[in-house]
Amino acid sequence: MSTPYLIRFVQHFVTITKHRILVCKGCFKIGLYYQGLTHDLSKYSPDEFLVGVKYYQGTRSPNNAEREDIGYSSAWLHHKGRNKHHYEYWIDYNTRGEMPGEDVLIPVEMPDRYVAEMVMDRIAASKVYKGKEYKDSDSLDYFLGGIETAPMHPNTRKKLYRYLKILAKYGEDKTCRLIKYELKHGRYIPKSKRSESD
Ligand SMILES: [Zn+2]
Repeated sequence: MSTPYLIRFVQHFVTITKHRILVCKGCFKIGLYYQGLTHDLSKYSPDEFLVGVKYYQGTRSPNNAEREDIGYSSAWLHHKGRNKHHYEYWIDYNTRGEMPGEDVLIPVEMPDRYVAEMVMDRIAASKVYKGKEYKDSDSLDYFLGGIETAPMHPNTRKKLYRYLKILAKYGEDKTCRLIKYELKHGRYIPKSKRSESD
């Protein structure tokens, strides 16, 4: 960590702001204006920002550097508890005895508008991570890499997977138009009818 503190402070600010601008553009494309403007705002709070500066490396998430240092990421715990576009926000515990072994942690289904914001978040993250090498299939590849372990509600996983497959196959513009349409009308367009709305 030889980079001076002030430089890392500025670099971290620029990194998170660039990400927010990209996600904001994506959210505007799908009609989620408020979510676009407020995406990841908690990253500017001292609990997240100062940890980000401390562990800033430029090539990967400072959260992972914090994990290696102290065993967990305090910045991530703060972040996922406040940002509904992360499926980790939606983990509760079950007290109704529906699950074998009571009080187990359960993933709650995410509202569609946060699934949509999550898609925009993943596109933006892949773009920054991959740079010139970015492809529409990157978000799908990342999802498939973590599919076994992510504690996501089955319906949330299904919706996310579907959008990422459409993104990989048809590209960003068509995917955004479809998401916007589905958020507005609250239903899915069957594959056979999809071309009519394009
Ligand atoms: Zn976030």
